[in-house]
Amino acid sequence: MHDSDAEYRTPSVASTSHPSLIDLQDLQLDDARALLEHAGQDSGQASDEPPLAYLQRVINGLCELSLKDPLTGLGNRRHFIATLERAIEVVARSGESILLLLLDIDHFKHINDTHGHLAGDQVLQAVAACLGHCVRPMDTVVRYGGEEFAMILPNCRPNCGRAVAERVRRTIESLSIPATPLVNLHVTISIGGAYAPEWVRSTTDLWIERADQQLYRAKADGRNQVFLDLPHEISVSAEEKGLLFGHFVMDQAATTPDSAPDGAGPGGHSTHRVNA
Ligand code: GH3
Ligand code: MG
Ligand code: MG
Repeated sequence: MHDSDAEYRTPSVASTSHPSLIDLQDLQLDDARALLEHAGQDSGQASDEPPLAYLQRVINGLCELSLKDPLTGLGNRRHFIATLERAIEVVARSGESILLLLLDIDHFKHINDTHGHLAGDQVLQAVAACLGHCVRPMDTVVRYGGEEFAMILPNCRPNCGRAVAERVRRTIESLSIPATPLVNLHVTISIGGAYAPEWVRSTTDLWIERADQQLYRAKADGRNQVFLDLPHEISVSAEEKGLLFGHFVMDQAATTPDSAPDGAGPGGHSTHRVNA
């Protein structure tokens, strides 16, 4: 066989960690291809597609899949945590108001029990699609778990948070879901929300916990309700105080090494709203 024929039949890519070339055929891409095909993505290599570009496309497709909930197409919990971590950085650096909402379908088990699991799945898909349309492109909507969803809303001032959450609640309430050919279903959701404390490097767990407490209140108050932990009600835990102190000292050291923390956040914002 001619050398150039062999090259053509076994396309190869340079490995970043190893100087030798890897044959695409040695990579056993079948499972990856099958996953992508199942998700509706074209997984075949085009005849004129360079091996490296093809491999990158497969990797990109797998990364995207790993962040998606297969039933609803929304982001999954992994995507949620990654987005929330980035939001925490933004809040700590800029003090931007970012609202986290947890949304839980009310009495969802009853829907499964009465109309079947498939009808339940239809409800989850319809609610997910509706939530996706309720918010701005910059917002993040994910399926957090079974019948629970979450939204991360950047640039959402505290005086707007309730209106946004109420709009979402009412939109779901008015939704008519064709769950079976004969039955249209209606559901409600309970919503709990919390803002990350400004200028404080919180943790995803603490932030979620605050929103979850509000969701619990919404459920206890009869469901189909919105409860928010607004910034002036926020108290900072010992853990967050430690994170705040560490962050503040770090920033001070980087900018004004001689000045000591005086209780005022960057941009002249006082931290007096933080109840220690
Ligand atoms: P509450 O108002 O207190 O939230 O009550 P609930 O019935 O919604 O909550 P509960 O936690 O009792 O039940 C949630 C149900 O969601 C139980 C579980 O079987 C169902 N579920 C979780 N994931 C899925 C799914 O992917 N598809 C379907 N059809 N049901 C699911
Ligand atoms: Mg639940
Ligand atoms: Mg529920």
